[in-house]
Amino acid sequence: MRYISTRGAAPALPFDEVLLTGLALDGGLYVPEAWPQMAPDDLAGPAGAGYGALALEVMKPYVAGCLDEAAFRALIDESYAGFDNPEVAPLVPLGDNAWLLELFHGPTLAFKDFALQLVGRLFDHVLARRGERVTIVGATSGDTGSAAIEACRDREAIEIFILHPKGRVSEVQRRQMTTVDAANVHNIAIDGTFDDCQDLVKALFNDRRFRAEARLAAVNSINWARIMAQIVYYVWAARRPELGGRAPVFAVPTGNFGNVFAGYAARRMGLPVAALVVGSNRNDILTRFFETGRLEVAEVHPTLSPSMDIQVPSNFERLLFDLYDRDGPALSAAMTSFRETGALEVGAARHRAACALFAGHRLDDAATKRTMREIHAETGMLVDPHSAIGIAAGRARRRDPEAPLVALATAHPAKFPDAVEAATGIRPALPARLADLYEREERYEVLPNALAAVRDHIRAEAGLRGAA
Ligand SMILES: *Cc1c(COP(=O)(O)O)cnc(C)c1O
Repeated sequence: MRYISTRGAAPALPFDEVLLTGLALDGGLYVPEAWPQMAPDDLAGPAGAGYGALALEVMKPYVAGCLDEAAFRALIDESYAGFDNPEVAPLVPLGDNAWLLELFHGPTLAFKDFALQLVGRLFDHVLARRGERVTIVGATSGDTGSAAIEACRDREAIEIFILHPKGRVSEVQRRQMTTVDAANVHNIAIDGTFDDCQDLVKALFNDRRFRAEARLAAVNSINWARIMAQIVYYVWAARRPELGGRAPVFAVPTGNFGNVFAGYAARRMGLPVAALVVGSNRNDILTRFFETGRLEVAEVHPTLSPSMDIQVPSNFERLLFDLYDRDGPALSAAMTSFRETGALEVGAARHRAACALFAGHRLDDAATKRTMREIHAETGMLVDPHSAIGIAAGRARRRDPEAPLVALATAHPAKFPDAVEAATGIRPALPARLADLYEREERYEVLPNALAAVRDHIRAEAGLRGAA
């Protein structure tokens, strides 16, 4: 399997290069040269087998020629061994021909663990084989840092540095990062804002000499391997006997379009999917796109569902590539114009093609809270604000009530305790294995908002020689 860039002007690469590269040299995103096709029997997986066996079947065409099957299976099994539910991704009834697919049983209580637990191990495996090491540097406003840290902790070939704005992330989020006891994990609290942290990371990557010296790398949401790992749970859910073999409608609370794009990939591989419903909060660029065919940038507003507070959904370019009939130069021109003008009209035919499978739906914070309250009243379950948006969007846009609805629960309610309490009056408890989070010892370095200070700290901690 080889991968091509959505902009058509970067070399095609094998899986391991795509894994380590992230963004293509022409500014595009890597996608498979062709969608591998699975027979209905493959999609059913080996009879009675668990999540790991299915994961291998679904993902193996994507790593073919690059990883051997036994090694890949071992990485998969290790990745999901730490999940605290034997089903890994349990399907819980919501009533009314609807189910919740719980994707929050990983170490950091959010669906990103599905991809990052595997990606951290894939990095380590590929780097060890090449005798290379990397330094991963990232900035977090709170919700993504811990998933990256848990993915990279104790990996031999990786040092990881995560910057967060001092005093501006919630205590649960900070503790999930700073209590990780691993020698290769380095938390830095910056005296500044999240934007300052992001600017520092950008400046580190733009410092060519440092970038090469430290072998800087990122595990951001455009990495193909993250999408690949997320395809599995769509197949897993669709083959569950509760759904009676009918093609499901998946409802997905969406930010960067990574998760729901994996649902699209599953469909392209042959999985019967009735529809993909994209849930948005007030930051509704995608919902507006599905309504109008126009992708238009707007200001970002903070909401109760911060992981969906985005301006431009980076993975959407992967869908556009197929809507543009995989014409890289045409998409490249469209994206350049989008960057310049802040808007893109795809035309009626492409808009119609997108709406044949996708629908969008937005909820403001008041409607999100109302949904959390309703779900609690109906089922006794607490859901986090992101998951609530998915459920409400799915219920609003399921065109055919006979189609089973599967709403993806992307975070555990205890990850967003204030919002859950504000909506329901109940403060959700952390799962048992995190119950002592508030007693654990924290480790982090406080640094000023200054590039030289951060660079010197990374050099010292990662044992780099430094600039002579
Ligand atoms: C990251 C995240 C999302 C958005 O997922 P995308 O793949 O960026 O669309 C939704 N909910 C939660 C809880 C998240 O952490």
